[in-house]
Amino acid sequence: MVQKQDQLYEGKAKKLYSTDDPSAVIHEFKDDATAFDGKKKGQIAGKGSMNARISAALFTLLENQGVRTHYRELINDRTMLTDKLDMVPVEVVVRNIAAGSLSKRLGYDEGVPLKNTIVEFYYKRDDLGDPMINEDHIAELGIATKEQIKEMRETGLKVNDVLVRFFDQLGLTLVDYKLEFGLKDGVMMLGDELSPDNCRLWDKKTGEKMDKDRFRRDLGRVEEAYREVLARVTGTSKEGGNF
Ligand code: UDP
Repeated sequence: MVQKQDQLYEGKAKKLYSTDDPSAVIHEFKDDATAFDGKKKGQIAGKGSMNARISAALFTLLENQGVRTHYRELINDRTMLTDKLDMVPVEVVVRNIAAGSLSKRLGYDEGVPLKNTIVEFYYKRDDLGDPMINEDHIAELGIATKEQIKEMRETGLKVNDVLVRFFDQLGLTLVDYKLEFGLKDGVMMLGDELSPDNCRLWDKKTGEKMDKDRFRRDLGRVEEAYREVLARVTGTSKEGGNF
């Protein structure tokens, strides 16, 4: 059993700890929720545990489909053991349907299906407001090679194939999501988390939003939405599973 050691970092939704295995870290998922660059703050009861379990299920699914991820195991309800990665400071956003900032950028109503999947890169720099950047900017910054950029894009699309199909079977439309990658011994792996905090999921029947937009936009029933996503992902949703 790996032992938790020092806190390495506290983010908005997770705390990261070193362990007695130098190649592994522990992620403790928090109930805290933030939006709009931290200007909106709150808590979603049980979110940490739900997001840890949803992430564990989705990383396992992706591993089984040949995507390399940092996931090793759930240590308890809200605690995940992973490989330690050198993170690439880039957020990779993959989109199937217009929503959020893309709707604003292109002037598309939310819900308009995209002709092709769109992959975007954002530079993870709070002081700059996480600006959108392109491959040339990433190469200029020296934070990833052209090859690694290509790999992040291709893996993002592979993840999309797997997750769109998986969520569709659960009665959910995968609208968009954010991925983060890191390197372990020079090998690119999927890191961070995969949960309703960083995916947009809409109920196929009702069109209801079942993700962090319920918190961002004060839509109510936030916990209930996360709980229903967890139930569907783990196959314990009640019959129909309407939301
Ligand atoms: N996203 C995220 N972290 C961020 C920005 C975006 O997890 O810092 C996710 C978000 O939940 C959504 C997708 O990436 O699933 C696209 O977000 P968008 O650019 O539309 O930004 P938003 O409208 O959420 O500000």
